[in-house]
Order: sequence, then C-alpha cells, then structure tokens
Amino acid sequence: MNQEQVDHFRAQPVGAVKMIIGGASVEAATGRTLAVVSPIDGQNIAALPNATEDDVSAAVAASRACFDSAIWAGMAPAARKRVLLNWADLIEKHALELAVLGVRDNGTELSMALKAEPMSAAGTIRYYAEAIDKIYGEIAPTDSSTLALIHKEPVGVVGAIVPWNFPLMISAWKIAPALAMGNSVVLKPSEVASLSVLRMVALALDAGLPAGVLNVVTGEGPVVGQALAKSMDVDALVFTGSGNVGRKLMEYAAQSNLKRVFLELGGKSPHIVFDDTDDLDKAAQAVVGGIFRNSGQVCIAGSRLLVQDSIHDAFVDKIVALTRKMRVGDPLDVNTQIGAVSSAGHLEHVLSALEGVQSIATGGNRLLQETGGSYMQPTIVTDMSADDSLVRNEVFGPVLTVSRFTDEADAVTQANNSELGLASGVWTSNLSRAHRMIAALRAGVVHVNTYGGADNTVPLGGFKQSGNGHDKSLHAIDKFIDKKTAWIKL
Ligand code: NAD
Repeated sequence: MNQEQVDHFRAQPVGAVKMIIGGASVEAATGRTLAVVSPIDGQNIAALPNATEDDVSAAVAASRACFDSAIWAGMAPAARKRVLLNWADLIEKHALELAVLGVRDNGTELSMALKAEPMSAAGTIRYYAEAIDKIYGEIAPTDSSTLALIHKEPVGVVGAIVPWNFPLMISAWKIAPALAMGNSVVLKPSEVASLSVLRMVALALDAGLPAGVLNVVTGEGPVVGQALAKSMDVDALVFTGSGNVGRKLMEYAAQSNLKRVFLELGGKSPHIVFDDTDDLDKAAQAVVGGIFRNSGQVCIAGSRLLVQDSIHDAFVDKIVALTRKMRVGDPLDVNTQIGAVSSAGHLEHVLSALEGVQSIATGGNRLLQETGGSYMQPTIVTDMSADDSLVRNEVFGPVLTVSRFTDEADAVTQANNSELGLASGVWTSNLSRAHRMIAALRAGVVHVNTYGGADNTVPLGGFKQSGNGHDKSLHAIDKFIDKKTAWIKL
C-alpha cells in the first residue's frame, strides 16, 4: 500500500448507496435517507437508506423464502464452501478499496483498518468455509435396540446487528459461521459505518451467493434494529454493541418470539503491570498500543491500567513519553498512528467523560478542529481510585486511567471490581503468578506479557455484563445450529 493508491480510492465518489434485499439493490421504501458525515473532515459523503419496519419485514421475508427453498442450506457442502472461499478472495482483491471506504465512514487509521477489516474478514470467512464439511452429527450411546441420532441443523433466519467499530471484521464474525451452517441472514450495520459493509455484501453476490441468503438493512438502530429484534420470523439474533442496547434486545426477544439472543458487549479491561516484569519498556509499548489504537474504540482496549506501587511513577513516565510521540491525524495518511474518533457526537461524549477530572498526565483535548474532523489527543489520567466513574464505566475513546496496587491480592480485587469482564492483561516474569492471575481474573480473555492477540481459532466472549456468547473459533458455530434428536427402534 502506498499513499498514491490510497488517495486514488479516497477521491472516488461513494455513489448511490443501496440496501441489499433478495439480491436486489434497493432504497428504503419511503425513499428516506440519513446523511453520512465523514469524521475525517466533517464532509457529507453519502446518503444512506433509512429503512423502516416495512423494509425489515421485506428483508426477513426474503431470508425466510430463501431458507425454505433450501437453495443454500440444501446445497452440497463443498459447493457452499466454494462460494464462501470465492467471496473471501474477492474481499482480499478489493481490500484497499474496502478499507478506504470504511475509514472515510468511521475514521479508523488505515494501517489498522486494512489488516483488521477486509483482511481479517476474509480470513474469518475462509476459516468457517473450511469448517463446512468437517462438522458431523452424532450417534448417542443408547442401548442396542435403539439408534439415537443427533442432527445438527441450521436455525433458519439469523438477525445480526453490529457496531461501527470494525464493521467488516465483526460482521464476518457473525455472518461467516451463520452462512457456513446453512442459515439465511439479515444484517443491520451501524448507521455510523454501513458503507463498506454494503460493498462487502455486494461482493458476496458476485462470488455466487444465491440472492436472499444475505440481506442488509440500514438506518437508525432504534427503528431498524428494533424491528429486526422484534420480528416474529427471526430465529436467532446475534449482536455486538453496547450493554444498553443489548438489554433492549433481550426485552424485544421476550416481547416477540423468544428468539435466542447472543450478546457481545463492552469492556473496561484491566491491564496489570507487576514490578517483577522483565521488560518494562515492552510492557509500556503494549499498554499504550493496547488502549490508543483506533482512538481507544476497541472492545478489548486495555483502558484501566493497574501498576504496582514500587514502579508506578517510573512506568507512568514511560507511557506518557510514548503517548506524546503518537501521531494523531488524517486516518488516510499512511503515517498516521491514531485516526479520527468515529463521529462528532461520540467525540463530545468522550470529552464529556473527562469533565471535572483532575490529574490528566497528558492529552485531554480535541485536536485539529480546523479540519472539521473529530480528533482527540490520546489521554492518560492518573491517581484514579477504583470507584471513580472514569474507572468503572466504558468510555470507548482514547482515555487510559491509571491506578496503583500494592500486591497480587489487591491487583485481583481492583481488576475484578467491574460489572464488565471482556479482556485483561498481566505483565509478570513469575510463571506461577501468571497462572494464578489467569484463574483469578473474571474476564473472557487474559493476555500474559502481550496484549491484543487475535486469531480465528480462539473464542472471544465476555464474562459478567460483557456478554453471553462467543464469536470466533468452532465454538461460535453452536449459536447457528439446532440439535435434533431422532430415535429409531431397531
Ligand atoms: P450501540 O449499542 O450503540 O450500537 C450497536 C448497533 O445496535 C448499531 O447497529 C445500532 O444501530 C444498533 N442499535 C442501536 N439502538 C438499537 C435498538 N434500540 N434496537 C436495536 N438495535 C439498536 O454500539 P456502538 O456505539 O455502535 O458500538 C460500541 C459498543 O460496542 C461499545 O460498547 C463496544 O465495547 C462494543 N463492542 C463490543 C465488542 C465485543 O466483541 N464484545 C466488539 C466491538 C464493540
């Protein structure tokens, strides 16, 4: 990737944006649209269809008709696999175009977006495509006069609602296992980041995915997402986003057809540095990278730093020095390390979380206001106590809080003092301590002497109020299958 290639795609007009229902590109039935404002410069770059309940019903009906026709679920596994592998190849071929489009929509620095978005989505689609002909049913160990078979069937129509951070990667975490198991899907991307998702799904049609298998509806969450979650004809709902919306989705499911609901929610992940850490410079780099990538808008961001007393001051000096060197700016400049905050509204929200906060060691302000974009200094706040609201609540921006701890027990108590439990990190050279911490931390992911590892082979899911399901790995497949028992008298 060079700057010239990036600028080529940046200069392209977005063109008419349409939803995808039953294989056709369609506007909202009312013709209503939402303005898409780029956080790079505040410019209006597109008009997004603003769907209503009727559009959602049409998408669900298209999904249902497709599922009932068995055109996808009944296709030979090897043929289904080929379609998904073709799709992954097309995504990779169009990776830079997709990444630039997504960055214009949500402001993620391109260096990260390229890897974490189209390339990662293509990898996830391949991973589940390859699993299609390796998932078997079971024979239960019953007595010899009966045969009990356990069939694994697709659940039917899956609704998927995704957030604005990493829209391609997170969509793929939902869509790929759902499609691999033969389901039809209605996908609802965030109104803040729909453009690249629509383009990626259009490529699925080019790759040979039959019309109606994968539909996309766009628009406001409380209207479009709610209609999907309340639909009587959606069998399972998978969601990544905030806890507040996740709660509503469970209510909607209860008010409608009791569809199964799987939630991947927020985090306030502790990053713990013990004084026996071998390489404090490496730890400092991981702490800074672990919070400030994508302006802190990463679900597993290590946003709560806990440092042992004896090294606290020296370690804070290290991370402050590293943070001040980070280049914040135009996310489509290949040298930028931190791009834009996703929207002007979200930037205001992040800044408001800092109101009245003392002890800001670095940052705390917006940047580059003259560009019209939404930029913020990476911010470190020290001397935080475990009960400060900044320490307890997810900010989802470039803000790191720092607290001290005395010993291992104190570190565990402070780390677990949260209603959330998505990820965590531990730096220590003591192997026994590392294992004790892995056991003691109430989080779905524990990193030891590293931070932010990502691979399709491992599940990602939260403890406590960070969620109730898992994306990625073969475990994610369970969300998209029904088990059916067949008793046969011999
Ligand atoms: P959000 O909850 O505001 O929105 C997520 C999606 O829900 C969007 O598509 C939105 O349109 C839709 N929505 C909004 N209101 C709705 C309603 N009433 N009914 C149905 N749908 C509705 O979240 P966001 O601001 O887009 O994303 C940030 C959040 O996502 C953070 O909390 C972050 O931690 C979380 N997240 C979690 C993970 C994970 O893997 N656990 C990954 C990425 C992001």
